[in-house]
Amino acid sequence: MTARHVPVLCSEVAGIVQQGPGRLVLDATVGLGGHAAAILERLPEARLVGLDVDEAALEFAATRLRPFGDRVQLVHGSYAQLDVHLRGLGIESVDAIILDLGVSSLQIDETARGFSYRAAGPLDMRMDPQSGRTAADFLNAADEEEIAQALRDFGEEPQARRIARNLIQERRKAPLRTTADLVAVVERTVSGRKRLQALARVFQGVRIVVNGELENLREGLGSALGVLAPGSTFAVLSYHSLEDRMVKQFFRQQVEGCTCPPKLPYCACGFVAGFRLVARRAIFASPEEVAENPRARSARLRALHRVA
Ligand code: SAH
Repeated sequence: MTARHVPVLCSEVAGIVQQGPGRLVLDATVGLGGHAAAILERLPEARLVGLDVDEAALEFAATRLRPFGDRVQLVHGSYAQLDVHLRGLGIESVDAIILDLGVSSLQIDETARGFSYRAAGPLDMRMDPQSGRTAADFLNAADEEEIAQALRDFGEEPQARRIARNLIQERRKAPLRTTADLVAVVERTVSGRKRLQALARVFQGVRIVVNGELENLREGLGSALGVLAPGSTFAVLSYHSLEDRMVKQFFRQQVEGCTCPPKLPYCACGFVAGFRLVARRAIFASPEEVAENPRARSARLRALHRVA
């Protein structure tokens, strides 16, 4: 267990949790327990439920959070069904939820997981290695359009179509098996200074598809609404513009309130906004934090407060 994982915008996230009653916190992506430890230290009365789909992360978090004893409960499961997992523990509502999307350094550093283009490993990329299809399953079965779309929409890779076409050609010779196979396809298509960027984008695009990350996020946002207690806060850290847009729009819907047409002289919908935004704009990491922690570079933090 050598992973060095510095939690992103840690003091900001903990500060948001502290704006609510902070008795019971759900860290729905507990990962290596970085945010969780900071919160448990700051709020000596708080209890925390940590959720993750990755058993290896849960093991790591269990060790790191052991000093907090029975204030911590760790559960294996997806935040897409966070309400179900809480109910399984007999919990109806919580005072704060944290969602830190993206990959942990434990996952990136473990070459056998296949998340990194920097090291040769199996082409896997599943957050939960016990379920679902691997990156190799996807890349060897999907058609050119599906692959191009993944690289374009989730990787924002300008050469998506050409890379997809070359990939199809390569896999006709032999199925892709390792990260090195995928790296070779990308390097065949994009050379020079753009190469590293293309690798990062392609790996990100494939990872998002393999893990159904946007679908999970949509479901997770919905299930979070149902378990946020009055006065609670909900903080989401995203690392990709599609994720951030989804979070931003979802939060906006919750704070808008009355849905009557503006022409109507009185309110007929009776809808009262139950939420307010903690900050009007997304919060970014400072240049100092980014210099120390590259994961913070693309991070955007948004938060919602449920009116008491
Ligand atoms: N905040 C953590 C780091 C989180 S990294 C810390 O400070 O240590 C993101 C974590 O989210 C990873 O461990 C990953 O396994 C987990 N994850 C990804 N998709 C998930 C999902 N659908 N449900 C729960 N956890 C998920």
